[in-house]
Amino acid sequence: MKSYDYRSDTITKPTDKMRKAMYEAQVGDDVYGEDPTVKRLEELSCKISGKEAAMFVPSGTMGNQIAVKVHTSPADEILLEENCHIHWYEGGGIGAISGVVSKLIKSKNGIMDIDQIERSIRADDIHFPHTSLICMENTNNKCGGTVMDLNSMKEVYSLAKKNGIKVHLDGARIFNAAAYLGVSPKMLMMESDSVMFCLSKGLCAPVGSILAGDEDFIKRARKIRKMLGGGMRQAGILAAAGIIALEEMTERLREDHENARILAQGLDRIKGLKVEMDTVQTNIVMCDVIRDDLDSYRLREELEKSGVYSTVITDKRLRFVLHYHISKSDVTETIEIVKKTTVNL
Ligand SMILES: *Cc1c(COP(=O)(O)O)cnc(C)c1O
Repeated sequence: MKSYDYRSDTITKPTDKMRKAMYEAQVGDDVYGEDPTVKRLEELSCKISGKEAAMFVPSGTMGNQIAVKVHTSPADEILLEENCHIHWYEGGGIGAISGVVSKLIKSKNGIMDIDQIERSIRADDIHFPHTSLICMENTNNKCGGTVMDLNSMKEVYSLAKKNGIKVHLDGARIFNAAAYLGVSPKMLMMESDSVMFCLSKGLCAPVGSILAGDEDFIKRARKIRKMLGGGMRQAGILAAAGIIALEEMTERLREDHENARILAQGLDRIKGLKVEMDTVQTNIVMCDVIRDDLDSYRLREELEKSGVYSTVITDKRLRFVLHYHISKSDVTETIEIVKKTTVNL
């Protein structure tokens, strides 16, 4: 049976070109700073992000965790968008690794309430923790791949600057945001003190993310990466795929966005299902089950019997993520399968 796997864009497999580049990659011991392919990936990442320095990390989670650790001291308070990955999906790491407390900031589709940020910055008082960092996420995963526009980002940057607070950008899917806004990725990353972006999601690399910032930030980040066990040896094998991810896979993200809209419209027309179309901006579709006699666990299970795989977000919400291995005709077929499945439930 044919399968349609919408669980995540992380399931994407390396392209043939990536596999060939991995096979042929020049490598060395990267902990000694001797892997030429990792160096090439890091240089390319500097160019793309507009940052002085960049570092290859095994995962986006590690990149975020290192950034929080470098920017903060134990007992600091950091401000986080309420749906963000750092808060929800990183195992509470910032508490264990950095010893910080967090304050969640309300948002609309991932765009934080700027007034609440301002009110949340702690005064210099013996009772209070010190506010040292704001984290933004673009695109916002839990909100359904929604995009922070340049203006909203600038507001946060300038408020942070005024108060001597650092800004970390979780840009796991920053290339999706850039594609949606029609701007260069650099425009979105330039002003942050640090940025993390993933190579292993919609860009199809098998493993790895990039953390970028100024020279001093990355120097300290390298020490913490080593401490956390993220110093990798002949990592050029992985970096070779990462280079192709950045050079050749970012432009095509538009196709995923187009397919996401087609899927969203199709699902929204099905009786008992509803999609908030204004959140369908990039490659993620959040589909709500609005029938009283059906929940998302049951629907997911039934869809899997016909080869359609999705993720449960809440008992009334399923997530579908578009990516390289799902074509426009797959989407059309999927809509038909969902239609048939729901009619029979
Ligand atoms: C996936 C993701 C991460 C973490 O990346 P991993 O490589 O899975 O650790 C961080 N932030 C966001 C917004 C993500 O979607």
